[in-house]
Amino acid sequence: MTCKEERMDKMAWVVFLSVSMALFGSSGCEKKAEEPIQTIPEQQWKVHDPDRPQPPVVNPGPLRAPVPAPSDAVILFEGTDLLQWEDSKGQVARWKVENGYMEVIKDTGSILTKRAFGDCQLHIEWAAPVPATGEGQDRGNSGVFLMDKYEVQVLDCYNNTTYVDGMTAAIYGQYPPLVNACLPPGEWQTYDIIFSRPRFDQEGNMIQPAHMTVFHNGILAHDNRILTGPTAHKQRPPHASHPDRLPLSLQEHGNPVRYRNVWIRELE
Ligand code: MG
Repeated sequence: MTCKEERMDKMAWVVFLSVSMALFGSSGCEKKAEEPIQTIPEQQWKVHDPDRPQPPVVNPGPLRAPVPAPSDAVILFEGTDLLQWEDSKGQVARWKVENGYMEVIKDTGSILTKRAFGDCQLHIEWAAPVPATGEGQDRGNSGVFLMDKYEVQVLDCYNNTTYVDGMTAAIYGQYPPLVNACLPPGEWQTYDIIFSRPRFDQEGNMIQPAHMTVFHNGILAHDNRILTGPTAHKQRPPHASHPDRLPLSLQEHGNPVRYRNVWIRELE
């Protein structure tokens, strides 16, 4: 359609506009229906850009009891042992387990699930160390890595600021969360993550990027974000072909972060 049509009399224009909007979601004059409408505005921000604005602080409300695992979930940690986990060398996971939680032990390395997962729904609860020590990235740093590649940051951002694509619940180096829903250190917090793995063709070309939806303490932090690739420090590498299933990992970043009640539902 041409812009000439805009000169139709007023009534006809209203009808034309309504139909165009229904069909194309715009006036139809500037945009053709087949034009891609998906953009990633976040790309305008440099990785770890200090000028990227802080999201609003939202109080998630009173503490909730642990969320019970549904009957079809794979239980990854229920408070007594690390039998579902190992270290990066395939040896026994050496984090501390006591009082129903596991706790990161410095210099023991990250831990990975023995089982591998692709598309999934993950529930995990964590608590930042008490007392809070360190600033920025050095306060309660850990991380939940889907497929050992895609990190949802764990950090204590309760009265603590850092670059927003590296704050609590950020998809590290890519997207800040929509809100800062942090509870004080020591209180149990939840992540509920819906993850869609990237798809690759036979030649290893990416045909669909990874997607993630994240709730932090029950509040939406990411609504079906399209990942730019694996998460990384100071860079945004593109997607690179990898297996359909890989372990979930939890990061050892030197801080005694605690985790409990970890379960996952496979969606494939
Ligand atoms: Mg981290």
